[in-house]
Amino acid sequence: MLPPGSTIGILGGGQLGRMSALAAAALGYRCHVFGPEADSPGMQVAAARTVADYTDAAALARFAAAVDVVTFEFENVPAATLDALAPLVPCRPGVAALRIGQDRIAEKTFLEAAGIPVGPWRAVQTRAELDAAVAALGLPAVLKTTRMGYDGRGQAVLRSPGDAEAAFARLSPHPLILEAFIPFEREVSAIAARGLDGTVVTFDLAENRHADHILDLTIAPAQVPDAVAVQGRAHVAALATALDLVGILALEMFLLPDGRLLANEMAPRPHNSGHWTMDACQHGQFELHVRAVAGLPLPQPGRHADSIMKNLVGPDSYAAWPRLAACGDVALHVYGKTDARPGRKLGHATRILPSGSLAQHRDPALLSPL
Ligand code: AMP
Repeated sequence: MLPPGSTIGILGGGQLGRMSALAAAALGYRCHVFGPEADSPGMQVAAARTVADYTDAAALARFAAAVDVVTFEFENVPAATLDALAPLVPCRPGVAALRIGQDRIAEKTFLEAAGIPVGPWRAVQTRAELDAAVAALGLPAVLKTTRMGYDGRGQAVLRSPGDAEAAFARLSPHPLILEAFIPFEREVSAIAARGLDGTVVTFDLAENRHADHILDLTIAPAQVPDAVAVQGRAHVAALATALDLVGILALEMFLLPDGRLLANEMAPRPHNSGHWTMDACQHGQFELHVRAVAGLPLPQPGRHADSIMKNLVGPDSYAAWPRLAACGDVALHVYGKTDARPGRKLGHATRILPSGSLAQHRDPALLSPL
């Protein structure tokens, strides 16, 4: 167990690093944030900071010497950065989980090997392979870049064979991945934390609703049959163990009308769909992440309330903060971003509801006043 006063190094200066650093401070740790942008949300609350590129070997060596353990909050940190740090300082999670999470083909392959169901998919390197994949999977289907895609970027829905040409030309670099279109009923996510000793704890399943391809609402707990919730938690726990992960892991899944869950994506880091845990659970995802990374015991996270988390995306949604700040049942989190462009996540607000209240509403999202 790292004693209080130790320093946790965080690669990435976004809001996930900021909230990790705040949780670390509550446990008596200092955080040293490493990233390319000064005055980023994470840097603002860090005890120490290095503004440097992820490929700056000298800066990485100094960073390694200054911290007791390294984690990351940004999944597109180059794997080579962790490779450079790993001989010098413990990195949690390790580079294997980072590499798998960065590549949709590696991710799908790993999920399947771990026994977690995914929808039908094909790797697509060439135009001819795309035609073969379309023939095999049928249409509609979703063509995606394998790397650096997020919030719906780097993907195209193919509805007719005529869509293939333009989508293949637009999306690069290749290889791409073609996924069968999943006619899901809902999107849910499960989050697990896994400790140094292999202990795994999981949060309640949550339902995610998107607007313009960006997460808009998370409703927790998801209003799904118990068997679905148990299955979702089992999937993320099995994945955390298969990855030999130390830290937090999110697994996004599609819920089919017949009750089956198909995994879509994983993220070996705190996740936007877990922000509700900060205010509705005894131990939130950022605290459990810090505990895992620092070698502390992992308590069951518990949940003392129902909740609906709303992302504050872009200046229009952020304009609501004075009103939200006046709501007694809303926990408000603002990330300190200096550039409030449309489409950027600037904060989130979680409405806390008495336990059990979501179950009484046909569409719990209507309980969100945010
Ligand atoms: P992703 O970047 O993979 O998380 O995809 C972003 C969103 O696109 C998901 O949250 C879904 O709403 C939708 N989507 C992605 N893949 C599929 C699929 N194979 N079938 C249906 N919808 C999908």
